[in-house]
Amino acid sequence: MTVPDHPEVVAWIALGANLGDAQASVLAAIQAIARLPSTRLIAASSTYRTAPFEATGPDFVNAVVAVSTRLNALALLQHLQQLENGAGRRRPHRNAPRTLDLDILLYGDASIASPTLQVPHPRLWERAFVLVPLAEIAPDKVSRAQLGAVASQGIERLT
Ligand code: AMP
Repeated sequence: MTVPDHPEVVAWIALGANLGDAQASVLAAIQAIARLPSTRLIAASSTYRTAPFEATGPDFVNAVVAVSTRLNALALLQHLQQLENGAGRRRPHRNAPRTLDLDILLYGDASIASPTLQVPHPRLWERAFVLVPLAEIAPDKVSRAQLGAVASQGIERLT
């Protein structure tokens, strides 16, 4: 019997892309996340189109997924960064347009403040492109007031 490296944890991951076929990139990334080792997809939001927020370039396509995983948080981050790199992600400057951006929003109830990983994601509550898809699949995690606070940010449901 193989001993799991970590107890099963539900993690919430935000996806975004605004270069190339952003919708296809996000949908492919959801499938790739579902295939990560020791991980299964629990829920995926619709995709949404959003105007760039503290970023440049074309509109973004965004989504949020929930996974159940036995990867520890750092291992999950490393796998997500491999997917970003595989999608051709370059980082010429902060908030540059990106083929694929994957952020860990929540990792169970964990609070993590390491140089490479902050969870809950520090900007989670400021962004409609995260809160609206998160509220779609986890209505208990997002309050009306929190949604109200980002209501001025343009977001359109795609699928
Ligand atoms: P970005 O360029 O927006 O993809 O930011 C990636 C950087 O943010 C990486 O160096 C990560 O180590 C760091 N980071 C910190 N917290 C998180 C998180 N919760 N999810 C994803 N990346 C994170």
